Amino acid sequence: MNRRLLTAIVTTVLCLTTFMLVIVRDRLVAAQGVETLTQPTMAPLVKPAVSSPGLASNACAVQPDKGSVKMRQKAMLERRARLLSSGSVSLSRFRQELDVASQSAEGGAKATTDYVPREEMALIDPTNYGDRFLNDINGNPANLEPLVVLHETVGSASSAINLFKAFHLNDDDQVSYHTLVKRNGTVVYLVPPDKRAFGAGNSSFVGVNGLEAVRTSSALSASVNNFAYHISLETPYDGNHNGYTHSGYTQAQYQSLAWLVANTGVAEGRITTHKGVDRSRSRIDPRSFSDKTFFALLRAQPKTTTIAIRCTDPSLLPTQP
Ligand SMILES: [Zn+2]
Repeated sequence: MNRRLLTAIVTTVLCLTTFMLVIVRDRLVAAQGVETLTQPTMAPLVKPAVSSPGLASNACAVQPDKGSVKMRQKAMLERRARLLSSGSVSLSRFRQELDVASQSAEGGAKATTDYVPREEMALIDPTNYGDRFLNDINGNPANLEPLVVLHETVGSASSAINLFKAFHLNDDDQVSYHTLVKRNGTVVYLVPPDKRAFGAGNSSFVGVNGLEAVRTSSALSASVNNFAYHISLETPYDGNHNGYTHSGYTQAQYQSLAWLVANTGVAEGRITTHKGVDRSRSRIDPRSFSDKTFFALLRAQPKTTTIAIRCTDPSLLPTQP
């Protein structure tokens, strides 16, 4: 009888332990969100350097704030409150309408397609993005040429957007892309192009003049975020894992991506991937991406600069009357 009781107790304890372990594991998985392939993207806290830096502004911030974590968080919360009260935003905040003046003179690229995707906006929490800076944390100029960085969501587009809409006070939790391309080709604008999305912490790009990265926080590594435009492709259903491959992206996604990148005016040599810029060598997205399909479609698109990645030097802005 005692033996039976003992066996029953041991079995119950084992069951409870297993149950608790499963719950902890599931909570960890649920907390990870987009790109579960590796550690969370690190991002700086920022403080605007201009007096009215709402979503309507396209001015650069002069230099990152060097204050304590508490001071930077306080500044960020004030900035967040201002942005949230700044009202609604129009599509033109993300992409200008095409006009003759914005046509790129670069090689006079001829349009062989009139493809235009469906476009949406999803405003995300201001804690998940910041300003682009004119100078790095040491005051050195940080005016590098824009760079396009491609990603994939790993999870669904909606789960990624929900993560970006969540309030994140701590640096390590803040994450965003500028734009996301759904499976059906819909382009979803998240962060205005002259703002800084937190897409690739601890990253660098090898340009024609050498290694490019900008450090904007004493607490975090240098990264390409200050001059990057981050675009993410929604991963197919069979790619929701940490494996190296999946079934790839839809033709509509490639077409929309080509249209989007063509409108940034960024040269082919400055289009890269998260895998290509990641210094930890643990990021491998976008997986199962066809360069051949993408670049063929890109070359068929008319190039414009209607998505203006650059922000304006505040000293060059017209002074208020
Ligand atoms: Zn990525």
